[in-house]
Amino acid sequence: MRRFALLFLIPWVLSSCASRPIDNPLTAEDDWLSQREQMVERQLEARDIRTSRVLEAMWKVPRHLFMPAEVRHYAYGDSPVPIGEKQTISQPYIVALMTQTVDPQPHQRALEIGTGSGYQAAVLAELIREVFTIEIISSLGKRARWTLEELGYDNVEVRVGDGYQGWSEEAPFDIILVTAAADQVPQPLIEQLAEGGRLVMPIGPVGGIQALTILTRVEGEIIRTHVTDVRFVPMTGEILKR
Ligand code: SAH
Repeated sequence: MRRFALLFLIPWVLSSCASRPIDNPLTAEDDWLSQREQMVERQLEARDIRTSRVLEAMWKVPRHLFMPAEVRHYAYGDSPVPIGEKQTISQPYIVALMTQTVDPQPHQRALEIGTGSGYQAAVLAELIREVFTIEIISSLGKRARWTLEELGYDNVEVRVGDGYQGWSEEAPFDIILVTAAADQVPQPLIEQLAEGGRLVMPIGPVGGIQALTILTRVEGEIIRTHVTDVRFVPMTGEILKR
C-alpha cells in the first residue's frame, strides 16, 4: 500500500517542479537577495565595514530598485552605476563606508547633499530618525522621491534645489553627508552641523583624486580627518562661483 502511494507521489512531485514558471517573481526576489548577501560578504565584511547595524541596512535596502531598469543587473557589482543625467549611484562599499564613518545613531537627524537615486538616503533612513536630502537635478530628485515613497521610507524628505545653502529650517544636523565633490566645504553646511556632529564630504579636484574628509564639531571647533581617497561626480551650482 505504501509503495503504491509512493508511485503516485513521484510523478506528481516531478510535474509540479517542471511547471514552476522560470521567472516566478519569488524566484527573482530570492536571486536579488542572494546577490545582496554576496555583496555584503565580499565587498563590505571582507573589507573594513564592521558596524553590524550598517551591514544590516546594506543587506536590507533593495539597491536594484533605485536604478533604471536597463542597468539593474549591475546593482550588486563592486562599482558605481550610471543613473542618468551623467550621474552615478556610488559603489556599495563607498555608501557603506560613508555611513559607517558618520556613526549613525537611532535618535539622529541627517542632511544629505546629492540625493541622486535616493539609495544613500534609504540606507541612512534605516539607521536614524530623519533624513533630509537635496538634489539639484529635478528629474533625479523627483524619481528618488517617488522610489523612496514606494518603498515606504516616510522618514526621508527630498527637496529639489542647490544644496549649497543646506536646509536651515531643519538645522542643526547630527550628520551631514555630501555625495558630490568640491574643492571646499560649503560654509553654510559647516554652520548647520550640530555640536558633536560629523560631516563627510569628498574634497578635491573635479575628475581627479579627492580626499574623503570628516569634519567634526567638538566644543565649537572644527576638526578635519582624512578617511581615504575617492572619486565622486562634481558638486555643481553656487559652489562653482566661490
Ligand atoms: N547619493 C547618491 C549618489 C550621488 S551622485 C545616491 O545614493 O544615489 C551626486 C549627486 O549630487 C548627483 O545626483 C548630482 O546631481 C548631485 N548634486 C551635484 N551638485 C549638487 C548641489 N549643489 N546640490 C544638490 N545636489 C547636487
